Amino acid sequence: MPLSPKGREMLLQGGEALGLDLVPHLEAFSRLYDLLLEGNRRASLTALQGEEEIVLKHFLDSLTLLRLPLWEGPLKVLDLGTGPGFPGLPLKIVRPELEMVLLDATKKKVAFVEEAIAALGLKGARALWGRAELLAHAPEHREAYGRVVARAVAPLCVLAELGLPFLALEGVMVAQKGPRVGEELSGLQGALEALGGTLLGVETFSLPLTEERRSLVLLGKACPTPIRYPRRPGVPERNPLC
Ligand code: SAH
Repeated sequence: MPLSPKGREMLLQGGEALGLDLVPHLEAFSRLYDLLLEGNRRASLTALQGEEEIVLKHFLDSLTLLRLPLWEGPLKVLDLGTGPGFPGLPLKIVRPELEMVLLDATKKKVAFVEEAIAALGLKGARALWGRAELLAHAPEHREAYGRVVARAVAPLCVLAELGLPFLALEGVMVAQKGPRVGEELSGLQGALEALGGTLLGVETFSLPLTEERRSLVLLGKACPTPIRYPRRPGVPERNPLC
């Protein structure tokens, strides 16, 4: 089922609130919505079901990354723990020049992302199946990305260990978080030092069309991450650095 006129209107209005003209991308988002509904029927991919929820909490929430002036030019972007493609697919739809790798450990989600990339005809996007803890040690991926994004994957201490090894020097990693990010920031400093990372800043704002608070946490890279990180699969989560 494509997006209804109400869903389209919501997407356009939310886009405007973010300073984006989504008119040229309406068909792509409508198709993605349809694919998500169908994919969810076959294999549960996301807890979000209704049209309003998907438009607000998947599409627009993903696009809040574009509040940041970080997406110009041909950049290599890793979406770490993309699930069914968020925030990576919306970002790629609106910024087609980005080279996007969408990584997840769950095969059925990666299969869905692959299908969506093909159906939407997205060039320069690929789905990658595997654990971040292992892929971050592959020469092809280590310190190979100008941007790393992650939404709803893990607490910051864990996420920093999983994501910073992928980040190139001078790169920026953006973690999409809820309002209570303060708790996660305390103690992060020590972990960042171990990983060669720095805290660049935190931006807090409301989602378009709702009052829900969100934060974007920006991490930078001061020096290469020591090769012992990330530790073996599951260890960053079981025994976090902070
Ligand atoms: N970013 C998506 C999905 C969030 S759910 C969204 O916002 O909707 C978290 C996802 O991260 C899951 O799909 C899980 O498989 C993936 N994930 C968690 N730890 C991971 C790891 N170590 N390596 C790869 N993927 C991981």
